[in-house]
Amino acid sequence: MKNLIDISNELFINTYSRHPAVMVEGKGCRLKDAKGNNYLDFTAGIAVCSLGHCHPVVTEAICRQAGRLVHTSNLYHTMPQIELASLLVENSFADKVFLANSGAEANEAAIKLARKHGGTGCFEIISLEGSFHGRTLATVAATGQRKFHHGYEPLPVGFYHAPFGDIEAMERLITNKTCAILVEPLQGEGGVRPLEHKYLQAIRTLCDKHSILLILDEIQVGMGRTGTLFAHEQYGIRPDILTCAKALGNGMPIGALLTTNKVAGSFKPGDHASTFGGNPVACAAAVAVLKTMTSAGFLEGVRSRGEHLHKCLKSIADQYDRLCRGVRGQGLIQGLVLDDKVADRAGEIVSTLFKAGVLITLAGGKVLRCTPPLIVTIEEIDAMASVLEEVISTL
Ligand SMILES: *Cc1c(COP(=O)(O)O)cnc(C)c1O
Repeated sequence: MKNLIDISNELFINTYSRHPAVMVEGKGCRLKDAKGNNYLDFTAGIAVCSLGHCHPVVTEAICRQAGRLVHTSNLYHTMPQIELASLLVENSFADKVFLANSGAEANEAAIKLARKHGGTGCFEIISLEGSFHGRTLATVAATGQRKFHHGYEPLPVGFYHAPFGDIEAMERLITNKTCAILVEPLQGEGGVRPLEHKYLQAIRTLCDKHSILLILDEIQVGMGRTGTLFAHEQYGIRPDILTCAKALGNGMPIGALLTTNKVAGSFKPGDHASTFGGNPVACAAAVAVLKTMTSAGFLEGVRSRGEHLHKCLKSIADQYDRLCRGVRGQGLIQGLVLDDKVADRAGEIVSTLFKAGVLITLAGGKVLRCTPPLIVTIEEIDAMASVLEEVISTL
């Protein structure tokens, strides 16, 4: 008889290289597979399950809403949508919200809104080399990594990429056709690369100078990940449009675009839509997430445990400085950067950790990325670090 993993591999188009486990249960920072193996989860479904697996408040909200009303489409208003949008507006720079089902869709909406706002002939968008903005054709075009473009040309036109960290080069890309600059405050998939404060502030200034919109992609780093509800709060700047998704529903598929009244006015009825966007069950989950994350002490806890995670990784990097370049990140997204001479073994390290029951992800080819649930404990961080150190020590 074939095992479940063989059956799965036969059934699905081979787009993912998955670890050999059939996950069946999760609680907090722990996952369990069908064979009964336990895992310490420092991926959180790629920065999604930020309150941990099956957080009781979220589960309760999902079950309650699923028993009441699951879907209406956007032909009507619903209670969970209204509650979610009020919380998002109350806790951000924004006046207005558009709800989607994923990160890429939130970015698609942002690109369309920026183009509408720019007006006819003003459609160009500048993003950064090394960025990641999604897998739809437009968001792939916005993504500043060649490997995601390969095989999909011709891509939608109007997307330009500025070298990371070079504000003059970015300004040279601005033309009278530019409608927006799109950046992540910290590049997640690109290798846990935070933008320096001065750099993002200079990008904001550039947008003001040329009257173009600043779109911040906080799909990965928004929702408390960096220790503030949104990462840009730490930069003392405001975007014109912000997209978030991943952790918003703690695993329920939902994305959101936040913006100002002024920019929102460029969309008129019929200009953009989504059948499932703002699904009541997903919104009920997101309401529970936002209420939890904005409760007293939650974000302080993320910052202090983030510092602890940073320290643990830094001590490994210092001890094995032949193999590691250093540690970078903000709050509870931290990356251990491998030296080029072991970078080709990065995948092997992640597999070895998996076999040892520790889940982490690889970013930017050579960065071991930790994005644990934000409720991770000091003990869990220490447990992860001791397994990681053992694995690194055998290289
Ligand atoms: C994950 C991610 C996306 C895409 O989100 P999906 O929900 O996978 O479509 C876009 N931008 C950033 C920064 C991301 O991390």
